[in-house]
Amino acid sequence: MQSTPGGGLGPGLSPVDSRMLLICSFILMTAWGQMNFTGDQVLRVLAKDEKQLSLLRDLEGLKPQKVDFWRGPARPSLPVDMRVPFSELNDVKAYLEAHGLAYSIMIKDIQVLLNEEREAMAKSRRRERSTNSFSYSSYHTLEEIYSWIDNFVTEHSDIVSKIHIGNSFENRSIFVLKFSTGGFQRPAVWIDTGIHSREWITHATGIWIAKKIVSVHGKDLILTDILKAMDIFIEIVTNPDGFAFTHSMNRLWRKNKSSRPGIFCIGVDLNRNWKSGFGGNGSNKNPCSETYHGPWPQSEPEVAAIVKFITHHGNFKVLISIHSYSQMLMYPYGHSLDPVSNYEELYDLAKDAVKALYEVHGIKYIFGSISTTLYVASGITVDWAYDTGIKYAFSFELRDTGHYGFLLPASQIIPTAQETWMAIRTIMEHALNHPY
Ligand SMILES: [Zn+2]
Repeated sequence: MQSTPGGGLGPGLSPVDSRMLLICSFILMTAWGQMNFTGDQVLRVLAKDEKQLSLLRDLEGLKPQKVDFWRGPARPSLPVDMRVPFSELNDVKAYLEAHGLAYSIMIKDIQVLLNEEREAMAKSRRRERSTNSFSYSSYHTLEEIYSWIDNFVTEHSDIVSKIHIGNSFENRSIFVLKFSTGGFQRPAVWIDTGIHSREWITHATGIWIAKKIVSVHGKDLILTDILKAMDIFIEIVTNPDGFAFTHSMNRLWRKNKSSRPGIFCIGVDLNRNWKSGFGGNGSNKNPCSETYHGPWPQSEPEVAAIVKFITHHGNFKVLISIHSYSQMLMYPYGHSLDPVSNYEELYDLAKDAVKALYEVHGIKYIFGSISTTLYVASGITVDWAYDTGIKYAFSFELRDTGHYGFLLPASQIIPTAQETWMAIRTIMEHALNHPY
């Protein structure tokens, strides 16, 4: 990921002003240790046909790491969003114009949104400290989330426990919250958020849902019935190293932080590292790519920990892996266009879940199999889940459709979580009523 320190200097500034600005931004960067995205833009391209889509794919090949796809080239009906560093803007725009690719500017200056986000977090942190309470409508750091987990488990020890399932590449603990009313290895639901670290709305949604479960248990009859027969497991921070890095250095980091001798680029895309269809289309063997699949299946400790836990448990019936953004609900396969054996059931269930979601705040989701709705993607979580025998495997892409993209304002956390919860509850209820 390239940064563009001082990239926003306007032509009207004198050399002295420019030097001062550069010095100031250098001091600020050193103080915060954070990459600066001043002047970086998100461009949206609406490709007319397959030929234009492949011209966009070529752009990644021509300039690896310089064009960061937020919504990759998929189908002509779906927009392509890409972050372009300030230093590359002229080149990239010229490329688009030369090939007749129409574009619009979705985000004019990424740093402006980042500053707003950081300011909102600081404000909320001050309020939390003075009131000694956790704000569910704010974004939080890894330390804050881990400390919330400890408090949450202590407060609700009758129903919630914390399980340590492994350690990340940089040796951070990986935790899963278990919601259970008793029994042994009951049929179980798995929910993970944050496997892509920059998708902050997903962690925030996972936290809100955890709180929701304890708040409505015993009141919401559907959830109460679910918990009578099933356990729910939620992994809030599925990629802790990447997530810590989004706070300390690069807000837009997607992969984990693994490094290997002789390989210059850092990180594996944890949603390309699973065994099903590993290394196939829609994943990349170039370690510098944002969709690098890693050296071998489940090479990454963050993925291996889940595989071990779910396999050892042996009774998971539902797996829901949560991403952002695009407003989609999808099911297997990603690595193949072939329909899975219960695709009609998954289609109908996705339709019901999306309807329940829509009824909360009027937000529209599209749904279908991953490969036909979005694009072919290999080595992904839900394909592995399905192949391992979990027939209710779903992947969400939460809000929005690109206005803010990964930088969704915190004011949208609660509405997003509320509607997502209704969709998840619909899926769990179906699993409860269709035991297998
Ligand atoms: Zn994602």
